[in-house]
Amino acid sequence: MIYFVGAGPGDAELITVKGKRLLAEADLVIYAGSLVNPELLNTCKKETTILDSAKMTLEAVIKTMTDANRLQESCTIVRLHTGDPSIYGAIREQMDRLDAAGLAYEVVPGVSSFCGVAAALKKEYTLPDVSQTVILTRMEGRTPMPPKEELSLLASHQATMVIFLSVSLAKQVQERLLSGGYQEETPIAVVYKATWPDEKIYRGYLNQLAQLIESHHITKTALIVVGEFLGDTYLRSKLYDPTFNHMFREASQ
Ligand code: SAH
Repeated sequence: MIYFVGAGPGDAELITVKGKRLLAEADLVIYAGSLVNPELLNTCKKETTILDSAKMTLEAVIKTMTDANRLQESCTIVRLHTGDPSIYGAIREQMDRLDAAGLAYEVVPGVSSFCGVAAALKKEYTLPDVSQTVILTRMEGRTPMPPKEELSLLASHQATMVIFLSVSLAKQVQERLLSGGYQEETPIAVVYKATWPDEKIYRGYLNQLAQLIESHHITKTALIVVGEFLGDTYLRSKLYDPTFNHMFREASQ
């Protein structure tokens, strides 16, 4: 059986219980070496084969899995992805090839870095009357973006926005968010290596974004978050309001 496992954002304790058990049982682990915390591999048996996918192509990953499965049908294979595998994980192309080869697999979710970033910031992305929508996106780089998802179009909503894979393009990010409709003084944060021991948090306003990233020499492993959810003004939630009835609680006032 092949398991795509989310490793979590960095802190080795943020993998799921199921993910940790599978790592302990695995005969073969292929992990995304650029971002997965290597401490997680200490969970593996000493005879486990451990490979870093950063040095492999898609074809090599699939061939390694297929060969391992052919040699020993009962073997447990873990494909360890950073954060949650469904977000910029390039797992679809792997799953489609496994389907074609008739190999069974399962996906074990993980804590995405955007959740790790909210925790590091001690903020809530969804605040009543501020934003009830979170946009997870990126700037186009070598990977193209569908034109209808151009950053300035998404910015027109002025919802909470989490921008992956884009700190090296900070100037364009700033320009497009401003041309799309966010105000210059919209709060932003850049979080480098959220939940890792060397995590760094930088806060500022949208008109300082590029300068903030440049002056702190952040070139990778960071998320940009944008929106008034980082501010201090919001309405309290209805859910915990004493005057609000719901299925589990009668209004008390
Ligand atoms: N599947 C992953 C994302 C992979 S794309 C997830 O769910 O988090 C890789 C990008 O994610 C990085 O370039 C960076 O933008 C972001 N990222 C991953 N780990 C991070 C962390 N600990 N802190 C901040 N950003 C992180």
